[in-house]
Amino acid sequence: MFTNQTLPLSQEYLFSWLKQFSDQYMTGAVIIDLTKEEFPIVYYNELFATLTHYKDGELLGQSISFLNGLKTNSEIEAEIQYHLQNAISEKFTILHYGKNDVIFWNHLKIHLIKDTEQCTCYAFLTCEDYTDQLLNQTLSTLESSIYKQLEQQTTTACILQQIAEQVELTFTRQTKCAIHLVTNHSTYEFIASGSLPPEIVNSYPIIQFNKQMGEQSHRIFLQEFEPQFIEEQQFVIASAWTMPILSTHNALIGAITLFFENSISFKKNEIQFLEALAKLISLSIKYAEQKQQLHQLAYYDSATAIPNMYYFNQVLQQWIEQGTSGFIAILQPGEYSNIVDLYGRHIGDELLSQMVARLQQTNVANNEFVAKFTNSALIIAHQMTIEQIKIYESRINHLTTAPYTLYDKEIYITLKIGVSFFNPESLAEQCVREADLALTKSRATSGTNTAFFNTAITSEIQQEMDVLNQLAYGLEHKEFTVHLQPKINFETLAIEGFEALSRWQSHRLGNVSPAVFIPIAEQAGKINEIDTLVLREVLKWQQNRLANNLKTVPIAVNISPDHFYGQAFTENFLTLLEAYQVPAHYIKFEITESIELVDFKKAKAILMALKNAGIESSIDDFGVGFSSLSYLPQLPFSEIKIDRSFVNAMHDPGMNAVVQTIIQLAKNLQMHAIAEGIETLEQYETLKAMGCPTGQGYYFYKPMPLEEATILLNEKLL
Ligand code: C2E
Ligand code: MG
Ligand code: MG
Repeated sequence: MFTNQTLPLSQEYLFSWLKQFSDQYMTGAVIIDLTKEEFPIVYYNELFATLTHYKDGELLGQSISFLNGLKTNSEIEAEIQYHLQNAISEKFTILHYGKNDVIFWNHLKIHLIKDTEQCTCYAFLTCEDYTDQLLNQTLSTLESSIYKQLEQQTTTACILQQIAEQVELTFTRQTKCAIHLVTNHSTYEFIASGSLPPEIVNSYPIIQFNKQMGEQSHRIFLQEFEPQFIEEQQFVIASAWTMPILSTHNALIGAITLFFENSISFKKNEIQFLEALAKLISLSIKYAEQKQQLHQLAYYDSATAIPNMYYFNQVLQQWIEQGTSGFIAILQPGEYSNIVDLYGRHIGDELLSQMVARLQQTNVANNEFVAKFTNSALIIAHQMTIEQIKIYESRINHLTTAPYTLYDKEIYITLKIGVSFFNPESLAEQCVREADLALTKSRATSGTNTAFFNTAITSEIQQEMDVLNQLAYGLEHKEFTVHLQPKINFETLAIEGFEALSRWQSHRLGNVSPAVFIPIAEQAGKINEIDTLVLREVLKWQQNRLANNLKTVPIAVNISPDHFYGQAFTENFLTLLEAYQVPAHYIKFEITESIELVDFKKAKAILMALKNAGIESSIDDFGVGFSSLSYLPQLPFSEIKIDRSFVNAMHDPGMNAVVQTIIQLAKNLQMHAIAEGIETLEQYETLKAMGCPTGQGYYFYKPMPLEEATILLNEKLL
């Protein structure tokens, strides 16, 4: 309204007009004569007098700087002077000091008044007490800045320090601000000390509030001290005002303290400001806690508080982006499932937590990140060169050499470890997958064992996956057939029996060896189906021969341990025999040696039940584990099959002795010995000379389709 206006008045008339105008103006108004060097105040209205407590023309002849005080910002003051000198309109907010300790934030606007000569001869200043607005504005600026900083993971201490500094600036009076929070142990701990040195803040006691803080939330507590001069700050601490910070449930969580140079009383707006500030701090702490909880939930395993895979992937990704190299190791205690079975899942969790604690004890360089990979495994990312991995292995050993105290027991563990490597070109996800593949590989060997990823592992595992995927299809679409391999009597060279072996011609994978698909079918729970398929085919074949009055010999089917120990094996086996009306002595079964160790009593009961039903059994691949020697005499097997690997190595005197011992053992136990995998005449003759009665192998016959076996048997048994 006034800016750059030209009024048709001389300076004299202009002045009297301005005086009249300011008397009617709705805020404080000051007229400054710009034609005089010191820019004196030549008039001020009643409202300005009320604002500053300067009455009766006390300020006339003074410059506006007369209102400056200790905390007045000198830069803003200089700006005001500059604008007056250069006759530029502008507005400012500056701390002004009136009479009788009156201090207020003055929202001041400079309007320039020109006379008819176009000379700027007066500045008309409108002034408003802006203290309340500024306090409110500070609160809302602080609020948005706090939330922004919390989003950016700024620490609570940093945020509170910023609040303390802002309070010192905004407060009209000279003050120092400190913020304390109540710790877990219900004592105060200062978090922010504003511009005071922390040790000074710490040397002052904080009011101990009582429990019923709810009613006192609006109150502020005064303490007076022996005045202490703080040289650095040029500040005398003589009193302190403390306002409690309460949680939303009125629990005491901290306090804001303002230190003053003398004992002063508070104005209403200042108390309101502190109350609002205490609420803001309380909310931001709550928000920070919630964020912390969310962070905990998102990044840590809830049962063990170990970082989770989401966190791990982020860290690994970051390391790769930063151009570092290293390795990833997945560690799985071999005993994990036994421990969980015996003592419960929480003890399994406890084991992983203790492992993490051990790893952290020795992680001095902080170049390692440990997370929970699965319920039973940990994953480690470690920044180091591949050459250094040997050093690292010794650290891993640290995990297995000493026992863990679990459930009041000392338990030793072995570890299966899968290792892969990463470099700046790696894909994080791929590296983790590779370590996992290596882990699968390491499980194949007993005891603590580390497997390093190489591309061969993937193709091997890929092949296993293909087999697994095709198994169900193959079973459903009759891709499985049965081959029979004759068992030959060494004296007469007659066919004494057959072993039935499954064959799989997959439409996708071609011919798949049982050595490949049997272990996979065992893992996938499909082995019963294969064993039963073979048994049915064999029974059908026997039934057919018997129905046609053709002579036949016993046929042995292979049974996997899982199937053997599984539900209702004996019943199902006998039911099938019954269904095909095949007499029990035409069917035998072979089972591998390792089974007795698992559940000796149960094995004995099953073998007994089948023996009572007239079904004989062979212990297959005998000698490989030497595990059953002590049990063998007590188990009702009728036949021992000497493993092919022994037959193959009979040229070695040690092995020769082993084979001889097994044959002798069989005789002593009144069991029938049969040698597997005879490929040469020499092997046949050696075995025969040792007193082995029966053999099986390519030297005599390879496994053959059922039709071929029919022809062969017809010829031989005629
Ligand atoms: P196994 O029961 O010990 O069977 C003997 C294996 O040796 C057969 O391998 C047979 O083809 C092979 N063989 C026989 N004579 C010779 C020889 O002179 N030289 C050589 N190098 N090998 C010979 P195949 O058929 O590959 O079967 C491997 C294993 O798979 C079997 O070992 C058996 O444990 C398992 N298996 C085969 N069919 C079945 C089945 O239907 N059910 C179950 N559970 N396992 C089966
Ligand atoms: Mg066999
Ligand atoms: Mg065998």
